[in-house]
Amino acid sequence: MKKTNRQPGPMTTAIHAGEGPDPTTGASSPPLHMSSTFVSSEVAGFSAHDLQEGRDTFIYSRWDNPSVAMLEAKIAALQGTESCLCLASGMAAATAIFLTFLSTGDHVIVSDVSYAGVAELVRETLPRLGIEVSTVDMSDLAALEAALRTNTKLIHTETPVNPIGRLTDLNAVSVLAHGVGALHSCDATFASPLGMDAVGLGVDLIMHSITKYIGGHGDAVGGAVAGRSALIAQMRKEAAIHHGGVLSPFNAWLIARGLSTLPLRMKAHQSGALAVATWLETHPRVTRVVYPGLPSHSQAELASRQMTNFSGMIAFQVGDAQEGRLLAQQMIDRLQVIHYAVSLGHHRSLIFWMETEPLMETSFRLEGVQLQSYRDYAGDGIFRLSVGLEDADDLIADLEGALA
Ligand SMILES: *Cc1c(COP(=O)(O)O)cnc(C)c1O
Repeated sequence: MKKTNRQPGPMTTAIHAGEGPDPTTGASSPPLHMSSTFVSSEVAGFSAHDLQEGRDTFIYSRWDNPSVAMLEAKIAALQGTESCLCLASGMAAATAIFLTFLSTGDHVIVSDVSYAGVAELVRETLPRLGIEVSTVDMSDLAALEAALRTNTKLIHTETPVNPIGRLTDLNAVSVLAHGVGALHSCDATFASPLGMDAVGLGVDLIMHSITKYIGGHGDAVGGAVAGRSALIAQMRKEAAIHHGGVLSPFNAWLIARGLSTLPLRMKAHQSGALAVATWLETHPRVTRVVYPGLPSHSQAELASRQMTNFSGMIAFQVGDAQEGRLLAQQMIDRLQVIHYAVSLGHHRSLIFWMETEPLMETSFRLEGVQLQSYRDYAGDGIFRLSVGLEDADDLIADLEGALA
């Protein structure tokens, strides 16, 4: 995008940031650069230590690649950060944060509920490396404050949290983190870059599974971390160049095409989800609906203060575990529009049953007040519904048939 004095809006940014007409061919759409290596015009070193964030020459695609750099520039512009690093998956992005900023003897505090892969990584892998882990209900700021230690280096939040839609007050967490010299990283996958001003709320590292809303079409897996250049440069050296889990240029190109329409899509996800959530609340079989855009959300005040788009993720309960399991099978048999599948943030609506008891054994292992808080949102289990971009009336009719 050419430099102007005006600050472009999010729709313009999503379309034009990081790209421009191809200087050699005049192509209006960005080309796909699959090349793994780049011809040098001068004698240079080939070490991660030679890399400078923000340079525009390329050496080798594990360091950086023009198609990946285009996507990184778009995400950074939309998220309002100096820089961004894209990796092979959302899990690669989460791993990159933990393994770049934590060493043996350090302490990290992670949301007690999180994306299941992250929950298992922090409970199984980090302790094996001698990293101390506390898991805390991040909606309980007193519990977070009590968990802080002199060696706390990182607080990792997720809001709205997968799968139950509980929220975290990001600004309050940033204040606590910075008070002890720790970084605050937030998995903002459910919210998308349009859902919160994470930078304004003090978050240092904003992580996304770009497999979800940013790509938006369910056809490419990827991850991203956005933040200040110094932090991203450190991550690029460790996570990309040394650990090697880089994003394929083809996936970057597909995801960048999806991202171009992200602001438009997020508006449609929000309005569709509000219609579906409002309808679900009136259904006799549905006992609880959790959606941050509903006045009934137990943190509705925080939602309206912190969120700039409520996104398309709904959680709802229907009675006990047995009833949930039977209904899940009925959905598999009857749904015609909505796909019964994991993942989220696609143009297609997706639904999946997540039963509390087995999740506690595999991923979350919560007890006492933490388990109680989880059950307040999820009971014996929830249906996690990712409202896509279909007509809301069609989604409601599909759910009506499946819930009958
Ligand atoms: C999907 C997801 C991840 C993991 O991302 P992948 O791209 O599947 O590796 C992490 N966090 C959240 C909140 C997610 O929904």
